Amino acid sequence: MRDGLKIVEESLLESDVSYSVVKEFMTHVSEKALGKRVLLSLRPQEELVRIVHEELVETLGPVDSSLHLRADRPTILMLCGLQGSGKTTTCGKLTQMLREQQIEPLLVAADLQRPAAIEQLKVIGEQLGVPVHTETDHQDPVKVCQNGVARAQRDGNRVVILDTAGRLAIDEELMAQLKKIDRKVGPDQVYLVVDGMTGQDAVNSAGAFNDALELDGVIMTKLDGDARGGALLSVKQVTGVPVKFIGTGERFDALEPFRPEGMASRILQ
Ligand code: GDP
Repeated sequence: MRDGLKIVEESLLESDVSYSVVKEFMTHVSEKALGKRVLLSLRPQEELVRIVHEELVETLGPVDSSLHLRADRPTILMLCGLQGSGKTTTCGKLTQMLREQQIEPLLVAADLQRPAAIEQLKVIGEQLGVPVHTETDHQDPVKVCQNGVARAQRDGNRVVILDTAGRLAIDEELMAQLKKIDRKVGPDQVYLVVDGMTGQDAVNSAGAFNDALELDGVIMTKLDGDARGGALLSVKQVTGVPVKFIGTGERFDALEPFRPEGMASRILQ
């Protein structure tokens, strides 16, 4: 069994699960394996893999891909994450998903750091036929979000999606700005968008965002590539919030509700 456990441990590390998470995870698995007396079973390796799979599914869960839409007023969804993680694209993907449910969201371009981000969101709005709230005459993202929410209320949009600014790395100013939006605008759901290709960086940024904001969910993008997705296990451990969706491509339909079983198999590949 010791060999089997070693193989599992190596496989998790290769999948980008961080070392401390692997250690903790393996302790659980060993306890379970001993409890279930894997050694006495007819096929100990198979039994061990089954236990590891089960434990992964449990750690990655529970499943909750609901956006928890409110009935009384527009639901405010705030997306945050590092620059390039896929926030703006994910705004489009969530929009497409809502449109399929006959819900027209209002998109709010609150990323004032990058003028191209405003343009990008405008294009997404045009492509998907939904309104985009933009303000280019000042530098206060809180105001932009507040005005966007007021506009949604006025126009009867059931959902508002705030596309916030990212940075290439975590910095104090970015966090202070996000905290301010969180405090003053009061989003119903705050989702962290992390790039599945970045491995340990994804975990570090998740820790920083989780310290600064009360997250409600994680969306991991770029899982259409080679990444085995082990970083998701670490991100889940660090944040403790449900993984809502995974991004599997650049198109607007490439957003899937998260399924722990599928991800567990992928991590153990
Ligand atoms: P932002 O800076 O966080 O707003 O990131 P963007 O939404 O601009 O995305 C950065 C790049 O990642 C773009 O080229 C997107 O097309 C790409 N991207 C976003 N999500 C995915 C995904 O799930 N899979 C792939 N392959 N590319 C993605």
